Amino acid sequence: STQRFAGKRVFVSGGSQGIGEAISLAFAREGARVAINGRKKDKLDELLPRLPKVEAGPHIECVADVSQENAVIEALDKTFRELNGLDVLICNAGIQVQSPSESLSLADFEKVLSVNVTGVMLCTREVLRRWVKDGTKGSIVINSSVHQIIPKPGFLGYSASKGAIGNMVRTWALEYASRGIRVNAVAPGAIVTPINDAWVKDPKKYKAVSEHIPMRRPGESDEIAEPTLFLASDQASYVTGQTLYIDGGMTLYADFEKNWT
Ligand code: NAD
Repeated sequence: STQRFAGKRVFVSGGSQGIGEAISLAFAREGARVAINGRKKDKLDELLPRLPKVEAGPHIECVADVSQENAVIEALDKTFRELNGLDVLICNAGIQVQSPSESLSLADFEKVLSVNVTGVMLCTREVLRRWVKDGTKGSIVINSSVHQIIPKPGFLGYSASKGAIGNMVRTWALEYASRGIRVNAVAPGAIVTPINDAWVKDPKKYKAVSEHIPMRRPGESDEIAEPTLFLASDQASYVTGQTLYIDGGMTLYADFEKNWT
């Protein structure tokens, strides 16, 4: 593999499983030192030794719930101190809660927003604060979703949170463009990860999900990781404020695949 990130330092939130794990492994393969974040130390302990070793120094783990301000401040303090700075932030942590909207509890609604919106805001703020001070021309990639634009009935908090990400990315991109800081999003479609156990582990549901995707299959975590690394890399040096949909065609109004006349 190439070494686009040799000597670079990357923080990945929610990096211990699913898409975040694939992103952490991909950055390490390409030479970056990775600070992996997650809530559970045992899961980070398990992943850390599986990351390819890099010359610049060891990878580190940062246990923190990204919805908690003090925990995020501590995690980024540790990262900037132990990695002696940071070049790339990946905001990947995200959750969803299913409930009919008419009986959605305030607690469940706020829980999703606290991770998917507030968590992204806190990690990004803590990184921007330091980059503005030290002049780093860094790159940020947020993990959004096709539900940034496709409605998701029964998942109101998730819909709201991913819709918000689109404008947060565009706002940060504009606010920090003159400093050389780039901010973009990836928006995955249906990807095989633990968040989707409900249909991944049920052959009937798996088939139903596959059939409504134009490419007729869900995506794999690596198929999100690679475009994420591209956006974070110097190969995307003039790209900012964009959301890249990675969805096998899901956002193409799939119903129109059959000629409607
Ligand atoms: P996942 O549930 O496998 O992984 C989510 C990760 O985030 C886990 O490691 C989890 O521990 C971590 N996390 C959750 N809450 C956290 C918190 N408060 N603090 C720190 N870490 C926390 O799911 P995934 O599919 O890998 O999802 C990753 C991202 O991709 C999410 O933002 C999700 O919305 C987005 N996404 C996934 C899909 C998909 O089909 N899998 C589609 C679109 C978008």
